[in-house]
Amino acid sequence: MICDFRPIQNSAFKIQNLFFEKAELQFSNILNQKKNFKFKNMVPSKVNYHRPSNIGEALELMSKFGDECKILAGGHSLIPVMKLRLADPENLIDIAGIADMKKISDNEKSITIGACATHADIARNEAIQKHAPMVAKAAGMIGDVQVRNFGTIGGSIAHADPAADWPAVLLAADANITIKNAGGSRTVDIDQFFKGLFMTAVEEGEILASISIPKTEFNANSTYVKMPQPASRFALVGCAVAVGGGMARVAFNGVCSTPFRDTNVEKAVVGGSSAADAATSVADGMDVMSDHFASAKYRKSMAAVYAKRALGEVM
Ligand SMILES: Cc1cc2nc3c(=O)[nH]c(=O)nc-3n(C[C@H](O)[C@H](O)[C@H](O)COP(=O)(O)OP(=O)(O)OC[C@H]3O[C@@H](n4cnc5c(N)ncnc54)[C@H](O)[C@@H]3O)c2cc1C
Repeated sequence: MICDFRPIQNSAFKIQNLFFEKAELQFSNILNQKKNFKFKNMVPSKVNYHRPSNIGEALELMSKFGDECKILAGGHSLIPVMKLRLADPENLIDIAGIADMKKISDNEKSITIGACATHADIARNEAIQKHAPMVAKAAGMIGDVQVRNFGTIGGSIAHADPAADWPAVLLAADANITIKNAGGSRTVDIDQFFKGLFMTAVEEGEILASISIPKTEFNANSTYVKMPQPASRFALVGCAVAVGGGMARVAFNGVCSTPFRDTNVEKAVVGGSSAADAATSVADGMDVMSDHFASAKYRKSMAAVYAKRALGEVM
């Protein structure tokens, strides 16, 4: 679903990073709607702050406040748009302190990562380093030290920024996402999770609770590479690959408005092509993004370069 201020978040993103043409188009519409919008406001409006001690309490607060509230995790996406007054929730429900949501559990067949685990927690986790090296590697490449210490994996994928690192990595890892709501919980296959630019399978009143990474041969032999935007480190092109046990999963972020698996490349790898040959068809037929940082043509060619590098590491 699209939370009611997500189109506005798109525009906030545009203001800060001048990234996406789509957001630019939306921005003028939003300015027309918000007559009192002023760029000089760099402090969020007054907001009621709630700090539940468990996920049940958080869900109760969400039922109580409905669309008058937002979840706060690391705050590295939400707070900037609140400072710009492009998001103005009356209530913030801060889940970052919920201990159960920060846990990383090494189970027999999978590793479960709580949605509030920070990028830094994930980068230094030994089980993840061993069973899914691309997950640990990607975590260590996000932003800077402060972003990695505050930003959470759940906040990042709930936000679904097309230039974020986690989406491609979790697509390549064949992850499962557990989402909780007042009625219980449900699990969504990562292939069904990302619905579009800043859109996911998380519905209103729901909390993304955890991410499960299967312990597979392909995840044990995996890597992530990216061409970072030099200031923010967001991916202009990111490529995650996992190859093993007769399977290949190859996924990209930063290239199109929604992260995607490239099944043509995957088939070529499984069929025995070299890394260089398999990478030639990257993003063929896809609607590749064009913005101030990189044209669609350049992005597509860089996607092939980074796919070749990533495949070269694991084949
Ligand atoms: C300077 C800078 C550089 C960055 N560089 C990178 C980079 O290189 N790569 C990268 O991938 N990211 C980058 N980021 C983003 C960073 O990774 C953040 O972690 C990410 O934007 C959001 O995570 P958060 O925990 O801060 O979420 P928040 O900002 O707290 O929340 C983001 C959104 O998700 C919702 N939300 C949060 N948690 C949940 C949940 N559990 N369930 C449901 N909804 C939820 C919130 O309501 C909000 O709408 C950067 C950010 C900054 C400020």
